[in-house]
Amino acid sequence: MSEDWLTGPILEQLNSGVLVVDEQFQLVYLNTFLQRHSCVQLSDVKGKSLFKVFTDVPEAWLRRKFASVLELQSPSFSSWEQRQYVIKLPHLRPVTSSSQFMAQNCTMLPLSDPAGRRYVCLLIEDATDAFVYQQHLQITMQKLEHNNRIDGLTKALNRRYWEEQLKLEVQRAQRYQQPLSLLLFDLDKFKQLNDQYGHLGGDSVLIELTARVRALLRDTDWFGRYGGEEFGIVLTNTALAGAMDVAERICLAVDSTAVTFHEQSIKTSVSIGVAQLDATGERAHEVLIGQADIALYNAKRDGRNRVVPFSAGETEFLLKAN
Ligand code: GH3
Ligand code: MG
Ligand code: MG
Repeated sequence: MSEDWLTGPILEQLNSGVLVVDEQFQLVYLNTFLQRHSCVQLSDVKGKSLFKVFTDVPEAWLRRKFASVLELQSPSFSSWEQRQYVIKLPHLRPVTSSSQFMAQNCTMLPLSDPAGRRYVCLLIEDATDAFVYQQHLQITMQKLEHNNRIDGLTKALNRRYWEEQLKLEVQRAQRYQQPLSLLLFDLDKFKQLNDQYGHLGGDSVLIELTARVRALLRDTDWFGRYGGEEFGIVLTNTALAGAMDVAERICLAVDSTAVTFHEQSIKTSVSIGVAQLDATGERAHEVLIGQADIALYNAKRDGRNRVVPFSAGETEFLLKAN
């Protein structure tokens, strides 16, 4: 008994695509779903090559897949994560998806008719919902990762992430025997500035200065907010002399241009401590921060608005002073 009365209506109503080709890849059947979405009528394409009708399909891949389905007489699958779509079809969510095309999970089944002729049936399931969901998830994860690294006010790296990068760069510099330097800078008399212009005035100075400093750095430098109005810059592949040049440029750039806040012109300056990596071992990055901090302390002590390099003699001076 034929089951056409059963399979016919089901195939026509199915919310998935069904396509059947013979061993020569000639189209035998397309269900209503596929005809509707591809704007192709079965009566117009029956007997024609799949690759002539759907010119965008990945022909070599599909030939390989179909050949193995016929040869092994067992189904094969392809998920949208491996290949977003096999037949380019528009999807029904033009607003929520960034992709123009329906994401598809595909199943390829071996079929035979009563006369023994062999066919392959391609079942296409609309997986756009999963695709859209994963896209949103990915964007959210990227945002989270970004927020986890960035200081909200200044957009410099936050301290935790910056210190992680410093540690990695110190290890890299040691392994490849490359120079590495660190700048620590602190805004001068910032408490007074806050008192005079208010906290929002102080904030806008922090925002403007960090943007100005970032513009002076290379892509390979790591610029982070170390504390309130204190910042660190890791200069990869840079020895002390080069780091001093960068620091002088930053000092000058801050000193030479006032920040405008509510039509007021706010003058400010920075003090910068500079140190080149010379320590070895596990805690080398902490030693380096300590050295740059001593140099920064000296820059403050010597009158602010200046750059001071770390020198080993100063450690002894400080140790004696304490
Ligand atoms: P010095 O020249 O010795 O560095 O003096 P200073 O006044 O800058 O030093 P101090 O460390 O005593 O003061 C830092 C001030 O920075 C105190 C704190 O209220 C302010 N500060 C820290 N974080 C922020 C911030 O995010 N926004 C603003 N507006 N002020 C901040
Ligand atoms: Mg300060
Ligand atoms: Mg400070």
